[in-house]
Amino acid sequence: MKPPKSAKPAFLPAPLCPLWFRFLLALLAAASFSATACSKGNPAPAMGPFGNPEPPAQAKTEPGLSIADPPVSPAPLPQIDAKRAFQYTREVTAFGERYIGNENHKKLEHYILDHLKGDQVEDDAFTADTVEGKFPVRNIIAKFPGKKDGIIAILGHYDTNYPLRNTGYVGANDGGSSTAILLEFANQLRGKTRDGYSVWLVWTDGEEAVKTWTATDSLYGTRHLAEKWEKDGTLKKIKALMVMDMIGAQDVNVLRDTNSTPWLLDLIHSAAERGGYQSHFYDLQFGEDDDHIPFVQRGVPCADVISVPYGYNDVFHHTPQDTMDKLSPKSLEIVGNTILETIHLLDQR
Ligand code: ZN
Repeated sequence: MKPPKSAKPAFLPAPLCPLWFRFLLALLAAASFSATACSKGNPAPAMGPFGNPEPPAQAKTEPGLSIADPPVSPAPLPQIDAKRAFQYTREVTAFGERYIGNENHKKLEHYILDHLKGDQVEDDAFTADTVEGKFPVRNIIAKFPGKKDGIIAILGHYDTNYPLRNTGYVGANDGGSSTAILLEFANQLRGKTRDGYSVWLVWTDGEEAVKTWTATDSLYGTRHLAEKWEKDGTLKKIKALMVMDMIGAQDVNVLRDTNSTPWLLDLIHSAAERGGYQSHFYDLQFGEDDDHIPFVQRGVPCADVISVPYGYNDVFHHTPQDTMDKLSPKSLEIVGNTILETIHLLDQR
């Protein structure tokens, strides 16, 4: 991602909910109206591209009970194995610098492919022409089929910053955490055909600029993939696309990215609430340039799931201080479980 230029606080405190208004709502509920308003400052029910609003929270009709009680959970929250995901991050980071074209990058490609043995895997490999010369770029796609017609795509880049080569930069969070969480998602998805949509995991390559971030020096892998998927008709089948980037930091707080699709951001927030993780989402709001942009530009519903700043004043971002000691398995759990739950919410649409 491009380092953020500005950050401004986004969310106001939850709207006040005076007692008289709650009483009025309770009366309405008793009269068999369903209502969800005013309980926790939740965003309005998201309207998806399929035209279905979120199912309303179950309103209790017994007198004396508040309708502000949370809805009964329909199923247990899905759980990733956060320890294993953290171990993957450690192993990926241990390869050292993994910028496009270098030896460690090759080793990491094999590492990813080893973990996907038996899965349906596809390559999107090409040569990128950059201001620093030509480089091999390889997006790795693992497909987990579903019974429902449509695709949920989850992306995360595995290359590390090129200009920081030979500085000891290892990109534990920026490159490491995204690679690892996708490997853990694969563990959760493989097995039988999903009841919902197909899920495609994409380890993207060449996300980083080779010199200075511009529209043409960045996002090499996803610009290529978006064009390819536009031509072959894949884009039309994508119901939602989510990018994982820098999600491992101890104080993880996912940005509300204004370049992303609002209803999908709201759906992710609903999923986070189910796990009690909502305090780790959307403290900040601004527009981020990341792997989702080439798909946003083509009308795909997208969310960039990224935690910035990384360290106070973004001090660990794109520096040799981006190391494992800044990360936590708990952060991978927060984001991982939230995204798995988001997939389930998308399946129901
Ligand atoms: Zn980066």
